[in-house]
Amino acid sequence: MPDLVLAVDIGGTKTAAALAGRDDVPQGTLVAPSRAGEGPDAVIDTVRALAERLLETADEKSGTRTTLAGVGIGTAGVVDAGAGTIVSSTDTFADWPGTRLAERVRAALAGRLTDGAVVAVQNDVDAHAAGEFRHGAAAGASSALVVAVGTGIGAGVIVNGLAVRGAHHVGGELAHLPIRGADHLRCPCGRIGHLEAIGAGLGLHRHYLSLGGDGTVTDTRGVAAAAAAGDALAVQAIADSASAVGRALAGAAAIIDPERIVVTGGVPQIGDLWWQPMLAAYRAEAIDALQNTPILPGALGDDAPLRGAAASAWRN
Ligand SMILES: [Zn+2]
Repeated sequence: MPDLVLAVDIGGTKTAAALAGRDDVPQGTLVAPSRAGEGPDAVIDTVRALAERLLETADEKSGTRTTLAGVGIGTAGVVDAGAGTIVSSTDTFADWPGTRLAERVRAALAGRLTDGAVVAVQNDVDAHAAGEFRHGAAAGASSALVVAVGTGIGAGVIVNGLAVRGAHHVGGELAHLPIRGADHLRCPCGRIGHLEAIGAGLGLHRHYLSLGGDGTVTDTRGVAAAAAAGDALAVQAIADSASAVGRALAGAAAIIDPERIVVTGGVPQIGDLWWQPMLAAYRAEAIDALQNTPILPGALGDDAPLRGAAASAWRN
């Protein structure tokens, strides 16, 4: 049995891949454009090309032909992890729903896989959650809620060491919790008042404009810069957006009672202007038993999904 697996993180713009040993640590990560708009053939070819480059380098180093004990993939979109197929996705990916990703990647890498090699596919935020759970901010816990607040909002729930996927593959989708304070904003799913409509980066920016904020500010980063420069509406927009996330975490904690909550993604990097109102909203809503649940920033950054993907290849 070889001591290497391939870990892959397929996002809407970039795909990252690395070989990893039994410690799940990515070795020499390579990144390439995903070509998601060109359809599944292009995305799978991106994965194949990255894998070949990694394997050729490994061949040169070891002086033998490298084979893989398995492949772990985290991908954007709703995933049927049991079947290794894509259930649905955003429009960034052309024709992604219905793609039999595990089967297609197995075929693309056939000459490099050992007999019995696992090809495990899961949602990218679930892979991220698995990485933080095994090796990052939730390491050593038996359960965790991991929430990524970026352009959108994703979440992964792990209970007794196992990811909660749900009956329709959307277990833990916090993004679509109805949330107080978002009634004036439409969610990307088409409904009014969901968490993502105000709590995600796009929602934060829209909320800022709805408060009467400076129309020349074009994105979340701009709102953060305006807040840092003393724009009171920007400070309020960030506080409202962060509070919505805190309320959602309190609601989710009441269902799951996770040992730890991990918050990652670009928006929390705004800093104290985001974290303080988020934590205050959590404390205001969470019942007494949940007041002291640790809420921690992610520890692994971009390595988290690859480490989670590697773990799935070893342990599925
Ligand atoms: Zn929604």
